[in-house]
Amino acid sequence: MSKWQELEARYFMTTGKRQPVTIVRGKGVKVWDEDGKEYLDFVAGIAVNSLGHCHPVVRKALSGQASKLIHVSNIFYHIPQIQLAELLVQNSCMERAYFVNSGAEANEGAVKLARKYGKLHLSGAYAIITAMDSFHGRTLAMVAATGQPKYQEPFTPLPEGFVNVEFNSIEAIMEATNEKTCAVMLEPVQGEGGVNVPNDSYLKQVRAWCDERGLLLIMDEIQTGIGRLGTLFGYQQFGVEPDIMTLGKGLAGGFPIGALLAKETASVFKPGDHGSTFGGNPLACAVGYETLKFILEKDVVSNVSRLGDHLKQSFNKLKATFPFITEVRGRGLLMALQFNGEIAADVVKTCLEGGLLLNPVKPDAIRFMPPLVVKKAEVDKAISILTSALEKVAKDKKLM
Ligand SMILES: *Cc1c(COP(=O)(O)O)cnc(C)c1O
Repeated sequence: MSKWQELEARYFMTTGKRQPVTIVRGKGVKVWDEDGKEYLDFVAGIAVNSLGHCHPVVRKALSGQASKLIHVSNIFYHIPQIQLAELLVQNSCMERAYFVNSGAEANEGAVKLARKYGKLHLSGAYAIITAMDSFHGRTLAMVAATGQPKYQEPFTPLPEGFVNVEFNSIEAIMEATNEKTCAVMLEPVQGEGGVNVPNDSYLKQVRAWCDERGLLLIMDEIQTGIGRLGTLFGYQQFGVEPDIMTLGKGLAGGFPIGALLAKETASVFKPGDHGSTFGGNPLACAVGYETLKFILEKDVVSNVSRLGDHLKQSFNKLKATFPFITEVRGRGLLMALQFNGEIAADVVKTCLEGGLLLNPVKPDAIRFMPPLVVKKAEVDKAISILTSALEKVAKDKKLM
């Protein structure tokens, strides 16, 4: 262990597994550790570093705004917040935006909005149907929304009003709906739960059911939004429009931000209903605005769909070579390889040694989420490191 890793073990409140590497610098799709070893970063801060590391647009927006105005509170008008809201509204099906500091905080806002809507329009209905294997964040209410018992069990009793049902089953949502239901909240493609893509008809059926029952459809686009799937927003891939949408992760290219967006009909907050000290501060919004403007102007989203296709083709070749790869799934630059055994940690560790950062999203699956600006040569290099790692793991574990 290096000195930093020893110090961490002594002083830090360990809440998750870390890979044994201390990253000190990044540029584009590359990062370097404390010994100067170079890695291709196909984790990208968990789909956060949308423009790669330390992109000039992000740096310029940060330093420019830092010398103008960093924080002023939400009791005054300030410009970057309004610019970012306008840009998001003009480029989505949404009509209003509000900014917070994280994904979980955006989802909390979405739930408050849906509950208020329930009080106004659905006789006080407050319950929200969410999916198994979803991920909505780590606050208590979002742990209740997240349909994964491992995140819930240590913290019961959880806030009430969330029902977790099978993903990709309209029947499960229909069965769970009752007079207490005010909304359905889903990720268009589940990220943390394993990169699970629903059937093409699922979200359309959910939309129709919500319309029939007068329920709100909330889409958690914290991971899928801002280009990740090859369209600016994930809902565009499935031909549906949500009533409420949340964003986070890649929105400000690495700077912390969350956003809550809503159609006018669902936008029921009145002054005093919601707030956030740091939410929507000029610094975060200026970086978000410049990042999004760059993504739109440079059509970064078509790079995502082009290289997403290339990544998928390369994975399908690997699947043909390595029989223990059972599935290639995902959209755009959010992809996963499924194995028929719990070898994800070994593959990720071997890739790390070879200079490629990946995420073992499940014991038997790895997730790929490179920066949206990744180049073909970088994808090819990653595939070559991955191929060697798969060969080594196959040999060590006698898989073929
Ligand atoms: C990461 C994530 C969250 C939580 O975001 P935080 O910024 O960690 O609070 C919520 N929903 C989805 C889909 C995510 O991927």
